[in-house]
Amino acid sequence: MSRGLCGKVLGVPASGIVTIRDMKLTMTGVVGLESGDPDFDTPVHVKEAAVGALRENFTHYTPNSGIVPLREAIAKKLKEKNGMETNANTEIMVTTGGMGALFTATQAVLSPGDEVLVPDPYWTSNMMQILMAGGKGVSVPLEYSKETGFRLDPDSFMELITDRTRAIVINTPHNPTGMVASKEQLKALAEIAQDHDLYVFSDEPYEDIVYDGARHYSIGSFPGMKERTITAFSLSKTYAMTGWRIGYLAAPREIIEQAYKVQLYSVNGVNAIAQKAALAALEGPHDFLVDMVAEYKRRRDMIVERLNSIKIFECWLPQGAFYVFPRLVDVRMTSMEFVKFLLREGKMATTPGSIFGERGEGFVRFAYSFSFDYIQEAMDRIEGAILGL
Ligand code: PLP
Repeated sequence: MSRGLCGKVLGVPASGIVTIRDMKLTMTGVVGLESGDPDFDTPVHVKEAAVGALRENFTHYTPNSGIVPLREAIAKKLKEKNGMETNANTEIMVTTGGMGALFTATQAVLSPGDEVLVPDPYWTSNMMQILMAGGKGVSVPLEYSKETGFRLDPDSFMELITDRTRAIVINTPHNPTGMVASKEQLKALAEIAQDHDLYVFSDEPYEDIVYDGARHYSIGSFPGMKERTITAFSLSKTYAMTGWRIGYLAAPREIIEQAYKVQLYSVNGVNAIAQKAALAALEGPHDFLVDMVAEYKRRRDMIVERLNSIKIFECWLPQGAFYVFPRLVDVRMTSMEFVKFLLREGKMATTPGSIFGERGEGFVRFAYSFSFDYIQEAMDRIEGAILGL
């Protein structure tokens, strides 16, 4: 019965992944590659900072946009690493994960009926948050080829711009495809945004996870983009801190002022202990990243090779994040049916491409944020299950 409930929220579908999770809950011994949660531990010095905060009773309300030293450390990091000049007092807000950054920003910027261009396949929340803000997400199909995988074509954005278009979403490195946008592609999108006076929501939680010499670029650092770019960052993936729920938003002052109100009147602010931990993470050593990314690369190479040796998958080599998104070849099932089949017959859980948009149908997503042996076991199970096809 829906009388009296909010039409806007009712119109937002619950994620199809819930079907798989519910099925999984009724089973035992399932090997799952469906969730993008790093299996690494949060670095020791970060955990120590949190313990220290507790001991010092740093357990009270903090400024709603985050403690000053953390905002200053973020501004320094943005300048040195992302090439973005920001004012720590007016252009940065600490948020509850990258999700919190995207949520407060979309609520602050979008009005009912505003159209936002979203590359499809998309990370489900990138689309749903637009709907939650009353906006309309317009899918921009990514190009696909067997050799190069998915690719952003700036021209395809142009074709979909209307009088109602307010913004473009960019997520690089990309979930679910692992695609990394090149400098040229981002430059072309920056030009489109400037020519049509659009905002850019840039979602960059995987900024540190790139391979084979690929480079991550922040579109907010491009000339003329500062005043129109709203960037969401996260500590979740770089520092294996998904459960700490901490990230940050970098945006023009007038947007931060509105996003601040959204945060103030929803969650008030961010967990004090997590903020101290985040400060230690940003200021501490980053040498662990080399080994972490090398290990992800080792897993990527293995999973791509294993998948390509199974006749029903066509899998290219993604250059970032920790997902592979192979195409299903000659499988007479939807991606959801196939994933249910794998779970039933192989006790192996993964994510159907269809939950990532229309363009995701016919693909499946595997996260390789799990140990090498665990991924091997998952591949063995797929091989076993498809013998019955
Ligand atoms: N953006 C993308 C593309 C993601 O995949 C995720 C998490 O999986 C996030 C943002 C948000 O992460 P968090 O809220 O944990 O910082």
